Amino acid sequence: MLSLNAFKTSLNLPSPLISFSPDWEGAEKVSLYVKRDDAIHPIISGNKWRKLSHSLTHPLPKTIISFGGGFSNHLHALGFICFKLGIPLTAIIRGNYSANPSPMIEDLIQWETTIEYVDRKTYQRRNEYEYLNKLQTKYPDALIIPEGGSQARALSGLQDMMDEIDLEFDVMVAPVASGATLAGIIAALDKLDKHIPKARQGILTPVRKAIGIGVLKGEGYLEELVEQFLPDSLKTESVGEIETKQNASKTLTQPAQQIWHIVHNYHWGGYAKAPSELVAFCDDFNKTMPFEIEPVYSGKAFWAVKDMLAQGKFKNGARIVILHTGGLQGAR
Ligand SMILES: *Cc1c(COP(=O)(O)O)cnc(C)c1O
Repeated sequence: MLSLNAFKTSLNLPSPLISFSPDWEGAEKVSLYVKRDDAIHPIISGNKWRKLSHSLTHPLPKTIISFGGGFSNHLHALGFICFKLGIPLTAIIRGNYSANPSPMIEDLIQWETTIEYVDRKTYQRRNEYEYLNKLQTKYPDALIIPEGGSQARALSGLQDMMDEIDLEFDVMVAPVASGATLAGIIAALDKLDKHIPKARQGILTPVRKAIGIGVLKGEGYLEELVEQFLPDSLKTESVGEIETKQNASKTLTQPAQQIWHIVHNYHWGGYAKAPSELVAFCDDFNKTMPFEIEPVYSGKAFWAVKDMLAQGKFKNGARIVILHTGGLQGAR
């Protein structure tokens, strides 16, 4: 068992920010960087640490309950952390894997996690007030963490990630599933932009942008997931129009600058769908690049950047940071 401080010193923080020069069409016209949260720890999947870190402060929770599927990177990261810190964890898992535990579940068992398999119907209730209230009554000492570690507090961990980047950039790209990672990036970008002198703000000033790559089919749905963590001013619909006073008599409305959007062309058919072309891309990438990707999250994000570069979707000279969220355990 480790103290929280000893545990934190075992993490590779701040995570490396490296420049990255693949031989992709169009890559020579931009600067590419990778924020390597995958390198934070060999077991803890990168963005899962970010999302959990602000729940793991003194006094540490007495016990923790959380949710996930049978291959969840979140439960895996949390299971390891709880084991190291000596916090009892109950994992509520969708589906019954008792006859056929996944490698992720085998790790949880080794890390002394209490596992509760629930059917899909029960699992669907995981965010319902009544269900959670009952759970909290049954386990009054427990900190209940939502699926994916995605909760308001997660955004502070992503703010820490953004604070580590001491580089001017134009675009940040990250994969999106439950949305908290992208929401954290957006909230941090918004704060950054508030530091830009007033005179340079406004609709014509290029501001930093966040582009999410949807890893599952969810046009509209993924935006909603992200927006539940954001203040109204950063929601897509509220950014529709702003008023600019041209002169005393005329008020024009113009589209305001949207600082984020999600691209929905790169989910490859759905969550964890990995067609052979994507798998081959990842394999080839892993042979030639200084770090690895996998087909569920990071592979889709890197492929998307490659494809968007070929299509000329980025301005010449754009400085693009790709957040490598980790996830290599899930690929097993
Ligand atoms: C969970 C996860 C994501 C998705 O992050 P969200 O905050 O749920 O959108 C992306 N990449 C990896 C490797 C993950 O494990």
